[in-house]
Amino acid sequence: MPKNTGSLLAGRNLAPLSPEEIRRASNTFLGLDKGVNARYDPTARSVFRVSVDAGEEYGEIVFGPDIYPGSSVVDPNSALSLDAAAAHELTHYHRWKSKIALSEDALEELDEALTSLEAILRYDLHLSESDRRQLVSDAMQRIQRHVKQFREGKDAKVS
Ligand SMILES: [Zn+2]
Repeated sequence: MPKNTGSLLAGRNLAPLSPEEIRRASNTFLGLDKGVNARYDPTARSVFRVSVDAGEEYGEIVFGPDIYPGSSVVDPNSALSLDAAAAHELTHYHRWKSKIALSEDALEELDEALTSLEAILRYDLHLSESDRRQLVSDAMQRIQRHVKQFREGKDAKVS
């Protein structure tokens, strides 16, 4: 993921989380993957990011209120469940660790699509049928966004 601007699209939950909701989200991350650090920041958009501490790079997930789905029923990303969104963020971590994340800005949407698809493979047994369908829909939306950007970029060059 090239930018630290957020991993999920607009349209998700914006309401502040209650202590119970924060606990539930933390437990969801832990239930999927004990080895990855995920912490709550009420002002953050959910994101996987790489930070440096004492000269050493480490990856961490920061989640905000948007880790919960929004009310839009037409937008696949908005509809991602808590479990599906957590699996997506955790997969960013593993793609970074394995050095397979696409770092080019122009490939951001494709990296997001691959992340949602890989999340299905990686966390298959932890996800419901509905979670898996949501991640496929999210990947399709990301690829469509990439195609749109690609075509607009081409149009910009010829005109
Ligand atoms: Zn993402």
